[in-house]
Amino acid sequence: MTRAFHPTFQVPRATLADDLMALTIDVQQLWKSYEGKPALQGLFLDAHAGEIVGLIGPNGAGKTTTLKILVGLLRPDYGVVRVKDHDVLVDPVSYKADIGYMPEAPTLPEYLTPSEFLGYVGRIRNLPKERLAVRTRELLTILDLAPKADETIASLSKGMKAKLAFAAAIIHEPSILILDEPLIGIDPAGQHLLKERLTRIARSGGTVLVSTHQLDTAERLCHRVAIVNHGRNVATGSLESLRASVDSGEHASLEEIFLRLTQEATVPEAETPRRRGWFRRG
Ligand code: ATP
Repeated sequence: MTRAFHPTFQVPRATLADDLMALTIDVQQLWKSYEGKPALQGLFLDAHAGEIVGLIGPNGAGKTTTLKILVGLLRPDYGVVRVKDHDVLVDPVSYKADIGYMPEAPTLPEYLTPSEFLGYVGRIRNLPKERLAVRTRELLTILDLAPKADETIASLSKGMKAKLAFAAAIIHEPSILILDEPLIGIDPAGQHLLKERLTRIARSGGTVLVSTHQLDTAERLCHRVAIVNHGRNVATGSLESLRASVDSGEHASLEEIFLRLTQEATVPEAETPRRRGWFRRG
């Protein structure tokens, strides 16, 4: 097996304005193995206030593992994880108040109604009673769930459940939103609503990190994308800078660039932080 792998490169971001925005997600040298099998092998990832960053990669590339580490559901073997300058691995609790997370396959309490569920999440998130009532009404209306507000979650369709999970992720208006495949199962109108919401969050200074296999959506929605494969960075940048860096035409789609970069790469030999001169954390 060859060790050749497409080199990691960081290309300039699209606009000068981005450079002025604060770094809110800072992941460095992230390593994680499951039962000795490497899932992440020295991954870097960053995102800034006002930015939507897409995390894309083939199945098994390590996207969900990365997002779970960021929200504190998993601990890495090694690495630095900072959210708004907060060291997540040193203090894994307090930063969560400012994070919204939508997992890949959300498990919802089927016996509650959407109103009850959002009320429950809002109380955990310490929303004042009046604000919670307004926010619940607002989100159920925006996401077209108002007609189902008082029926059990068990009676909702798959797409409705996904929209409800999205509502739960943003009910406390977090400034960092982490979404794992949020558009799966949602109809085109719902997807449009969600994307509009994400754009609005970023415009108001929030950070959105979203993993997706929908490359046409990532192309239109994200300011930058991070392409990962085999738990490593392949390339990161705006569509324009990725096009330039792989020397593709000025009209090349993200899909074309993605396929080229991920298919060019040969499977890298598994490494450990120790082999790279890094040492296991804790
Ligand atoms: P997909 O696009 O298919 O959702 P992904 O990029 O999100 O994939 P991960 O789910 O992070 O990838 O998985 C990365 C690697 O880690 C894969 O090889 C996967 O099989 C492995 N893995 C993930 N979770 C576990 C687990 N709980 N136990 C063992 N191996 C796991």
